[in-house]
Amino acid sequence: NKTKVLVIFGGQSGEHEVSVISAASVIKALHADRYEIQTIGITKDGSWYWGARPEAWKEAKADITNGAKQVAVVLNPQKPYFQAIDGSELPDQGRCDIIFPVMHGPKGEDGTIQGLFEMAGFPYVGSGVLGSSLGMDKDRMKAVFKEAGLPIVPHLTLLRSEINAAPKAAVKRISDSIGFPCFIKPANLGSSVGISKAEDDKQLLEALIYAAKFDRKIVIEKGVKAREVELSVLGNESAKASIPGEIKPTKDFYDYEAKYLDNSSELIIPAILSQKLIEQLQSYAVTAFEAVGASGLSRVDFFVTEDKQIFINEINTMPGFTQISMYPKLWEASGLSYSLLLDELIRLGFEKFKDDA
Ligand code: ADP
Ligand code: MG
Ligand code: MG
Repeated sequence: NKTKVLVIFGGQSGEHEVSVISAASVIKALHADRYEIQTIGITKDGSWYWGARPEAWKEAKADITNGAKQVAVVLNPQKPYFQAIDGSELPDQGRCDIIFPVMHGPKGEDGTIQGLFEMAGFPYVGSGVLGSSLGMDKDRMKAVFKEAGLPIVPHLTLLRSEINAAPKAAVKRISDSIGFPCFIKPANLGSSVGISKAEDDKQLLEALIYAAKFDRKIVIEKGVKAREVELSVLGNESAKASIPGEIKPTKDFYDYEAKYLDNSSELIIPAILSQKLIEQLQSYAVTAFEAVGASGLSRVDFFVTEDKQIFINEINTMPGFTQISMYPKLWEASGLSYSLLLDELIRLGFEKFKDDA
């Protein structure tokens, strides 16, 4: 008896394309003898298509929804299912055993779609509503990290309305307290979308206006000169951290292009660090995971300075998941293959569903 897994991908965020690539890898690696796979692709404008193929979406065909059926979710906590808008039949009457939302960014990784799964009554892979939303909001994430005793870089949070009302005052406040270089980030995004580095007042003002296009809340951080080290966390309660990996961006910082387009950044696995630092990072990674209330999986990202100071940068509750992504690569290096990792994530999804009941 195969487990029916529904992979949902795409979505309305700036990370739509990344999701499509991750989903294609996940679908390919789910063992055909254990799983029956169904898919839903969510278009950039938010329509859901059952039977969508990520390969077709990747190729940017004229009609990416070709052959797929637009569906709606039926909120029926005892037996949730999907229904075709045109009234036609869906395989398995639109039912599945568990959902794997391979989506990044707002409305995929931020707790909103997780809330829909909760309302409908579907088990799903990954963090719940709270863990997802805390992991998405860089401002609230930092507050929770700070409370958990994790080292964070100095930062400020400003609202778009404050920036628009008094841009010069905002620039002065930042340059007086944070200084340069600083990083300007929309609070709720990922994949470096909307992020800039500023070296002076002029760049800072431009960066604030740019980031404010993406979010109503903007986080400004002191720029640190450091190595970027990431760890994978896997589990529900009593989760474990992997060995660390290091990212060597070939550009000034790890921006969207460096992450996904030019493929030039190097992953070093394992990161070369002292045993003491590794253990500290592993302990911080698990603390961060528990602090936001994550479950299933997360990638926790750090800065390590030359004098061995550690800062936690962020947690990603649905990290990039292609075969060459850091999250699965770190487990692979610890002996857990990509396919076995998927088995474990699905098992953890069911476990969480049972625990929450
Ligand atoms: P995202 O969630 O979009 O990945 P990050 O906060 O990780 O956003 O920032 C993206 C990249 O920008 C990081 O991987 C790093 O290269 C650079 N960066 C971000 N914040 C800082 C900082 N405070 N100091 C130095 N580099 C930073
Ligand atoms: Mg992120
Ligand atoms: Mg990041």
